[in-house]
Amino acid sequence: MRRPLVAGNWKMHGTRASVSELIDGLRLQDLPEDVEVAVMPTFVHLTSVIDAVADGAIVVGAQDCAFEPMPCALTGEVAASQLIDAGCRYVLVGHSERRQLLGETDALIVRKFAAAQGVGLIPLLCVGETLAEREAGQTLDVVMRQLRAIVDALGVAVLERAVIAYEPVWAIGTGLTATPEQAQEVHAAIRRYIAQCSAQVAQGVRILYGGSVKATGAAELFGMPDIDGGLVGGASLNADEFGAICRAA
Ligand code: 13P
Repeated sequence: MRRPLVAGNWKMHGTRASVSELIDGLRLQDLPEDVEVAVMPTFVHLTSVIDAVADGAIVVGAQDCAFEPMPCALTGEVAASQLIDAGCRYVLVGHSERRQLLGETDALIVRKFAAAQGVGLIPLLCVGETLAEREAGQTLDVVMRQLRAIVDALGVAVLERAVIAYEPVWAIGTGLTATPEQAQEVHAAIRRYIAQCSAQVAQGVRILYGGSVKATGAAELFGMPDIDGGLVGGASLNADEFGAICRAA
């Protein structure tokens, strides 16, 4: 059985005061024990959040890590080992905002994925197509290319210590959630693709859905056989809404 994971990607949001308020709100939520709940604040808020959730019901991830290990002269970057040292469990790699707005390539994402796993941080690999790619019938080609970059470079076994998030770019921040059927189709294709290399890895890997996940409709998404939880942006900034999404998983 795959344990569901619901992760809140806070993106570039929050002040010390609002983050503290959000964490206080989350700690009041009745979070289900059979669901793993993670939050992903900006780097500056990581340690305060980690300290605030030290009693255990919520784990913490970062939104990015450096492609090189520490020590390294790499101004402005944060090493995966520094994230482990701070107390992180997860790190996002390949988020579409970084692919599209910051020019991250599949090759760079492979290096970040490997850097994370090299120190025991669990990479949460984001894949997904744009609206133009979906309309051109290229959804599965794009998603499998993004996934194949990792599998070809590092081998399928690395997915035993990773999580995949399918995030259609057209659904992110737009309010246009994919239907459960649309998402399930891609999730099942991802699992089939992995199963060609290893049935065992395919069976075990968690595949999250992301893109305008809200409390309304979350249970239908999470009820699909190959959807193992969610990667939540905007709705994770509201403790009640995020709590309700976690309870739907
Ligand atoms: P929204 O939930 O705001 O659409 O963001 C999704 C996302 O990009 C999570 O990584």
